[in-house]
Amino acid sequence: MTRSIDIVEVGPRDGLQNDPTLLETPVKLEFIDRLIAAGVKRMEAASFVNPKLVPAMADSEAIMAAVPRGKCAYIGLALNERGMRRAIEAGCDEINYVMVASDGFGKANQNATPEDTADLLDRIAVLAHDAGIPLSATISVAFGDPFDGEVDVARVAALAARAEAAGVSELALGDTIGVASPYDVARAISAVREAAPKPRLRLHFHNTRNTAIANVYAAVEAGVDVIDASCGGIGGCPFAPKATGNVATEDVVYLLERGGYDTGLDLDALIETARWLEAVALKHTISSALAKAGGFPPKNA
Ligand code: ZN
Repeated sequence: MTRSIDIVEVGPRDGLQNDPTLLETPVKLEFIDRLIAAGVKRMEAASFVNPKLVPAMADSEAIMAAVPRGKCAYIGLALNERGMRRAIEAGCDEINYVMVASDGFGKANQNATPEDTADLLDRIAVLAHDAGIPLSATISVAFGDPFDGEVDVARVAALAARAEAAGVSELALGDTIGVASPYDVARAISAVREAAPKPRLRLHFHNTRNTAIANVYAAVEAGVDVIDASCGGIGGCPFAPKATGNVATEDVVYLLERGGYDTGLDLDALIETARWLEAVALKHTISSALAKAGGFPPKNA
């Protein structure tokens, strides 16, 4: 039996959030339509943060009101109670709460310590549970912090246990600044599985140091079957200096298809969407390898 890997498309949120080009709502909606046509079934589409701090996400309510329903589950990000309430009100199909693994980034991103983010999740998880909306959590900077440096795997594992206790159905480890190696990935997965065996594990990589595709491979080899990726490899983080884009969705699909995995995504349609992003929507170079090189073997070979 072919093993399936679910890819969560994060381009419309993590991707666009830090892109130098600010897209108008209709262009974002075209991006979302193109992704759905390429087979995307789960997508981060909105972030309910302070629009003054993250202007690219200021139209999150408008996006959620306009997206086509039924073919794709839309995930909204929340960092606090206000965000959680806005995400519920906006009709998100899933909510992703963001924890932090380290103090420096926690202070910059949401003015909270790692333990604060766990305490807050304890208090507000009930809002999503009561609304009947699946709740996931991402532990950001799980592999390294732009201000503090190394992050202790034991601290990540302790936060994972807190997230499990709060009833999250899925838990993501985020390499927010792109420092992880495949060896770190294997270690973190094993520590987190031991501390929090219940939630489904999802991994989130940025390609800042060219290790993201190797990290996807390590995660899949370790049995992980949910991977975050952004079409075109766009993205970054406004609160993490020098962080660059997410691993590109089409690069991940290529890797996995060569390994015989089923992603349910149409590689050609993703490549076409990445090229549309580059030439039409964002009007700057993107980092996706497949958008440059195309798939293999060639269709007419
Ligand atoms: Zn990210």
